[in-house]
Amino acid sequence: MKEKNKDIGINDVLKEVRTYIHNEENIQIVEHAANYASEKHAGQFRRSGEPYLVHLINVAYILATLKCGPKTVAAGFLHDVIEDCGISRDELCEEFDEEIADIVEAVTKIGTLRFKGKDDPEYQAANHRKIFIAMAKDVRVILVKLCDRLHNMRTLQYQPEASQKRIAAETLDVYAPIAHRLGISAIKNELEDLCFYYLNREEYHHIASLVEAKKTERDAAVSHMISEITEMLNENHLQFRIFGRSKHLYSIYNKMIKKHKRFDQILDLLAIRIVTQSELNCYEILGYIHAKYKPIPGRLKDYIAMPKPNMYQSLHTTIIGDDGKIFEVQIRTEEMDSIAENGVAAHWRYKEGSNYNPKIEQKQIEEKLGWFKNFALYSEEESASESASEYMATLQHDVFEANVYVMTPMGRVIDLPSGATPIDFAYRVHTDVGHTCVGAVVNGVMVPLNTELHTGDVIEIKTRKGTEPSEDWLQFVKTNQARNKIRNFLQKKETEKRSELVDLGEKLLREELIKRGFDAKEYMDKKHLEAIYHDFQVGTYVDFMYGIAVKSINPTVVTEKLTRQKARVTDFEEQAISRITNRDISKKANTKTGIIVPGIESMRMSIAQCCLPVYGDEIKGFITKGEGVKVHRAMCPNIHSANARLIDVMWDAGDPTRTYDSEIVITARDRAFLVTDILTVISQFKAPIDKINADVNHELLISTLKLTVRVHDVEHLNTLIANIRKVESVVDVDRGFH
Ligand code: MN
Repeated sequence: MKEKNKDIGINDVLKEVRTYIHNEENIQIVEHAANYASEKHAGQFRRSGEPYLVHLINVAYILATLKCGPKTVAAGFLHDVIEDCGISRDELCEEFDEEIADIVEAVTKIGTLRFKGKDDPEYQAANHRKIFIAMAKDVRVILVKLCDRLHNMRTLQYQPEASQKRIAAETLDVYAPIAHRLGISAIKNELEDLCFYYLNREEYHHIASLVEAKKTERDAAVSHMISEITEMLNENHLQFRIFGRSKHLYSIYNKMIKKHKRFDQILDLLAIRIVTQSELNCYEILGYIHAKYKPIPGRLKDYIAMPKPNMYQSLHTTIIGDDGKIFEVQIRTEEMDSIAENGVAAHWRYKEGSNYNPKIEQKQIEEKLGWFKNFALYSEEESASESASEYMATLQHDVFEANVYVMTPMGRVIDLPSGATPIDFAYRVHTDVGHTCVGAVVNGVMVPLNTELHTGDVIEIKTRKGTEPSEDWLQFVKTNQARNKIRNFLQKKETEKRSELVDLGEKLLREELIKRGFDAKEYMDKKHLEAIYHDFQVGTYVDFMYGIAVKSINPTVVTEKLTRQKARVTDFEEQAISRITNRDISKKANTKTGIIVPGIESMRMSIAQCCLPVYGDEIKGFITKGEGVKVHRAMCPNIHSANARLIDVMWDAGDPTRTYDSEIVITARDRAFLVTDILTVISQFKAPIDKINADVNHELLISTLKLTVRVHDVEHLNTLIANIRKVESVVDVDRGFH
């Protein structure tokens, strides 16, 4: 690699500066900085063996070619004095002024970030984030840092190989994208090719040789085309410059890799640029060219009417020449051409006599470069709250890789990654606009919120106060910014809801303990609770109380475990046993059903299948023809009109081993794990299931479950029903009738 401007001196910088700065006081500032740096860095050398001053001269020189103001060029000379000469910020303030000192200090901070933990990706991301944040505050810091990095890249051959790779990778990750976004393509292209060379030398040489191989042929084709166009435009009395241009190697490599193209399939290898006087001339020239040569459909791009977010303006078209060769033609004005090369530096190039104010300049840049505002805001506000690699991912994806340009109704251009939706747009406008978004109008038409946006769309977001972001949005948003903001909102809400439920869980458990005569304070301490977490497969207090609140953990069972006392289900058995011991032996029981018909010793009896009475229910006997007495629940609709055939029946003293079939009908809003949760409750209450039947109404999303369970008595059954009612999304539970 040839090193550019190898032998320049302080005078070359001053000469360059004098081409656009004429005020002697301002020239003095630059000269003073040059002499100061020369004095302070005296005796220091770079790895190349050259005096350190050579680096500073080069940095200042590149800044001067970008037509930066005197203080920025001065900062170029001074950018290493704090770090390498132990000069303090205060000393710089005294010797120069606060502005220069601030720039030098910011550049120094960026420079000193890079030495520690270089192999840890998270550390690297943190490093890169700091660089971006430091640069986002003042565009002049970026310019000095970019020129510093450019000269370091030009002299990278003197570094050991490991440093070469690291510095080149960082340059490709951080500095080339920012040069691109600031529209400084001259620096961006040179940085990219240098990085390419150091990171992938083999591919670099491969592509360089491909370019070289047919160079003569291509040059001939281009000059032939240039002379044809020149003749045509001259005939029409147009003022213009025309020249061929070559693509830089890294962009060819990228096209081959990203678009899976072979070298000979790349359409813009033969490229011509026409620079003219006015916008109108641009369109006129385009008209003549299209009249003579066939354009390739879909390749005409009007970046004059729709500038890129880095302010780039030009007309692009691709045409087929006489012998079938394909040419890319760019048409633009002189002003557009200088912005295309030097971007932000060209647009805000130093103007003598104007009252320069860096704050106003920064503001203007943020207004003109929509992304820069996002970048500055994003770097300032959000960076503290997330990990460095998230910040880098967002910056990379949302800011640097944005390629869809849409507009607000007021004409503000907003750049988004491809596939972005109105929700992404809304969050880019403002967090609150995103949170309260209820609808989107794209090009005058109301569209769904997941509609993919396209370049040129005009978008209006409808908001409504009090609405909240929906979890569904996470399925389709494309920007990390929107995703993070939605997630943060939902998480915050979830945390709030969770803490309410934890309170509820505590309350339910406390009530249950008190109801059973235990001292709630004694049992609800950390030690007691932690000892039983594993019984309920939870690991934390929050999860445990949450479980009680949402009914996945039964407070009765918890009470039982906590107090090591028998609880409800076994209570029932005890009661049943005592009923047996005290039973009135004189009354004869039908051992099968437990039902007695007073005064009648033996009578065929059976339980009615329509209402399935269980022990303890109010019952009536129905005298059938030939099947003895059927025992119904007193309220069974099937026996209401049959008074004459009803007789009184009653339960015997009971038998704890006896169980009764009962049908339970559950209505619930359908959800995942509904049946599992219900079955868990039923098994907690030790009611074996004989039959289960589930039906989902897909339109209403309502599930109806019919279960046949075996219970001991009506108290057992009622407890079971009451607890199923508490299962989430259960609407109603009742006993079945047929
Ligand atoms: Mn430096």
